[in-house]
Amino acid sequence: MGKIVINEEYCKGCELCTLACAKKYIKLGSEFNRNGYYFVEYCDAEGNCTGCALCAEMCPDAAIEVWK
Ligand code: SF4
Ligand code: SF4
Repeated sequence: MGKIVINEEYCKGCELCTLACAKKYIKLGSEFNRNGYYFVEYCDAEGNCTGCALCAEMCPDAAIEVWK
């Protein structure tokens, strides 16, 4: 199993990662970062993230780190 860490200050809220995650563990939040963008949040209550890294590969801003 895996997990991800999102650097909210790098995120621009483009939501490419939300589309990439088949398990829908990433969602756009309702708070702004220091650059004025909404940023995404990670929620995997069941601990079923596979660590596939598709979300990180899709991110144009290298805001997602994947751990296995
Ligand atoms: S590593 Fe895979 S399963 Fe985990 S949050 Fe990213 S896309 Fe979803
Ligand atoms: S793909 Fe990257 S920049 Fe876009 S919403 Fe996801 S974490 Fe933020």
